[in-house]
Amino acid sequence: MHQATYPPTEHLVIVGNGMAGHRLVEALVGKPGRPSRITVIGEEPDPAYNRILLSPLLAGEMERDALTLRDANWYADQGIELILGERVSDIDRQVQRLTTDAGRTLAYDRLVLATGSSPARPPVPGLELPGVHVFRDLDDAEALIHYSQNPAGGRGGSAVVIGGGLLGLEAAEGLRKRGQGMRVSLLQRDDRLMNRQLDATAAGLLESELRERGLDIHTHAQLERLEAGADGRVGAVHLADGTRLAADCVVVAIGIVPNVALARRADLDVNRGIVVDETLTSADPAIHALGECCEFQGTTYGLVEPIWRQVEVLAAHLAGETVDGYVEQPSATKLKVSGVSLYAFGPIDPDPEHEVLAYHDPEQGDYRRLLLRNGRLEGAVLYGDTASGPWYFEQALAGVDLGPCRAALLLGATDAQALLDESNESPHCPAKEAA
Ligand SMILES: Cc1cc2nc3c(=O)[nH]c(=O)nc-3n(C[C@H](O)[C@H](O)[C@H](O)COP(=O)(O)OP(=O)(O)OC[C@H]3O[C@@H](n4cnc5c(N)ncnc54)[C@H](O)[C@@H]3O)c2cc1C
Repeated sequence: MHQATYPPTEHLVIVGNGMAGHRLVEALVGKPGRPSRITVIGEEPDPAYNRILLSPLLAGEMERDALTLRDANWYADQGIELILGERVSDIDRQVQRLTTDAGRTLAYDRLVLATGSSPARPPVPGLELPGVHVFRDLDDAEALIHYSQNPAGGRGGSAVVIGGGLLGLEAAEGLRKRGQGMRVSLLQRDDRLMNRQLDATAAGLLESELRERGLDIHTHAQLERLEAGADGRVGAVHLADGTRLAADCVVVAIGIVPNVALARRADLDVNRGIVVDETLTSADPAIHALGECCEFQGTTYGLVEPIWRQVEVLAAHLAGETVDGYVEQPSATKLKVSGVSLYAFGPIDPDPEHEVLAYHDPEQGDYRRLLLRNGRLEGAVLYGDTASGPWYFEQALAGVDLGPCRAALLLGATDAQALLDESNESPHCPAKEAA
């Protein structure tokens, strides 16, 4: 338990009006001990929006307005100063003052860095060419939507997405759905799609489904260079095996890099991310960091689930409440491609002590694989019917001994839970004894 040791009536400045920064504000406004003055500075021109929904926006499944989390009026109503379209360029820790690229200076008592991350870029020639995009913010999504409606190459155009992880897949499917007759290729360096979340069977099912929809998928793809077209824009992508793919639009989605330049300039402790302790406090007790820009016990972040838990801890801490420290926990993965259902968590490759339970119905495109250690679930890969995914995840987090329901485990949550309940009611219940 950590008790904040400073008065909550201070000026709190939050750098970044993204998912983490905004959620922190939402958590603070309801707290009696909230800092008396809160200022939020965001580089993007729009007030906080749901970044996760950029994928359905690109795919044409959502409207732009539906992404907004809160507008500027809401901030004003909460008595919070919101400064948008300005980038914090420097922090002077000695005098606790920051400067923005617009020349504004602002004193703080407490500072929260919620600067997120930026798309990683592979070191290949041609990446600077016009027509090469990333997929991180509203401007990126709007540029891709514009391209899909006005392809530079005409006749539907041809796009190449580099990266076969969650983001690359969502970008490729979004472009395919938006672009009428556009040829969309997806390059994956590994031997299978989503290799960090899926085993070979599930990745194979996903690949077949996406191929059937018309995506052109290349695994083992080693990117060599991008070629300029006659108009000086990107015209093609070359792979190390000699393949040349025509491309008048390229989307780079190979991963993310935490935005730490500001923290580094301020001489905070930075590895890959800004190093924080379990109260999300950096090496400077007046400065906190959370979200994709921070690093806790060697871990950096790319999904919102752990970030929401960080927000709870930091909000309580900033409001002077007693709170348990942040604890690392596994996260589950879902893919936001309509018509494709997958759910995965935990390790992908079984080790010799794992018991592997698997079920595959190729006709239905249904696949479930569970990894258990001493009766406890450590990992799951579900493709097709994923309804029981959250139940499996709960059992894994709680470390429940699933021995009593082993026979029904692959049938899903309802059957397995019924067996567990039955065994809990019996006088010699292994699950009870373990708990
Ligand atoms: C297309 C897409 C789909 C995604 N889908 C999922 C999903 O399905 N599930 C999931 O869990 N996660 C998903 N994510 C990841 C999720 O969006 C991020 O984990 C989350 O946004 C991280 O929040 P954050 O606040 O740390 O960073 P961000 O949301 O990126 O916010 C950081 C903000 O800080 C601003 N900033 C940076 N530097 C400065 C500065 N110096 N001064 C002022 N402002 C600054 C940035 O402009 C940005 O607005 C997706 C991401 C993308 C791009």
